[in-house]
Amino acid sequence: AASVAMVKSKAIRVHELGGPEVLRWEEVEVGEPGEGEIRIRTTAVGVNFIDIYFRKGVYAAPTLPFTPGMEAVGVVTAVGPGLTGRKVGDVVAYAGNPMGSYAQEQILPAAVAVPIPPSVDHKQAASVMLKGMTAHVLLRRVFKVENGHTVLVHAAAGGVGSLLCQWANALGATVIGTVSNQDKAAQAAQDGCHHPIIYTSEDVVARVKEITSGKGVNVVYDSVGKDTYKASLECLAPCGFLVSFGQSSGKPDPIPMSDLASKSLFLTRPSLMHYTATRDELLESAGEVFANVANGVLRVRVNHTYPLSEAAQAHADLEGRKTSGSIVLIPDT
Ligand code: NDP
Repeated sequence: AASVAMVKSKAIRVHELGGPEVLRWEEVEVGEPGEGEIRIRTTAVGVNFIDIYFRKGVYAAPTLPFTPGMEAVGVVTAVGPGLTGRKVGDVVAYAGNPMGSYAQEQILPAAVAVPIPPSVDHKQAASVMLKGMTAHVLLRRVFKVENGHTVLVHAAAGGVGSLLCQWANALGATVIGTVSNQDKAAQAAQDGCHHPIIYTSEDVVARVKEITSGKGVNVVYDSVGKDTYKASLECLAPCGFLVSFGQSSGKPDPIPMSDLASKSLFLTRPSLMHYTATRDELLESAGEVFANVANGVLRVRVNHTYPLSEAAQAHADLEGRKTSGSIVLIPDT
């Protein structure tokens, strides 16, 4: 068999599940892209809370060792045999699948890669693909936010939360958000959150009732999970939607169907990948996000950057609620 040229690259590798310290910076060998694949030299990696779930085993990880990360931007360095429409030097971004974005060089299916507009830089794109498409799907497809709705966003200063507040505001909704401290409340307010609630010192359910004159909200976007889902249900108006899309504080307990009956509530637990499964859905979602970045509806907050080799620190800070907006890792040269 012909020998395949190997590109030396460094990547973060997980050999055993655990805390941030299991993220190791190692040399790996990257081969040539196969059919339908491209290879990219990574320029910016988006950090997402889901990376923590895989590192800890909250979501079943692939076989060990693995390279974590679901999102990156890079420059194409090789194109698989027979692939058309891609060339060396193209700038592309991807989010969702496959795992393995915490790497200097990586191979991915061409079908998941999308071009980024020239007005959006690599760090911004790596901050807004996974988080931005999530915001799009949550606000436009899972529950369609309309002018006049009232929405509650937990972790309103977070990566996804910041985008949800801005976008929901632009859609004409009244936006209520929960955050842990004053600085995050100020950021959420700048992002169009009309009523930031500091949950560490205020009673969220009581404040939501007060703000909505006892009516409750039409939809709750809940990424916090265990600590918040009960209050989320209490904050809903009759026929309201609980959109549970993450578990930053741990998995929520099971909810008996009968708990929904008292207000005819809806409950859904969406995953981005099911809403961007086709190339058309992916391009539509990414297109909506980039259009809203270009027209100023979405300000991308790249609040934290770290060298890729220091991914462990990024994880510790994200888990420790020390971050706001998006986190980007820049591959060490
Ligand atoms: P965030 O920037 O939102 O970071 C998490 C934030 O959650 C923290 O800053 C903190 O904000 C808040 N939080 C509350 N309780 C805890 C806790 N116990 N531990 C840690 N943080 C806590 O992260 P992302 O924007 O990357 O992701 C947000 C959520 O969206 C995640 O749960 C993620 O899994 C989910 N998600 C789901 C997707 C899907 O397809 N279903 C796709 C993308 C993201 P504060 O200090 O204000 O409390």
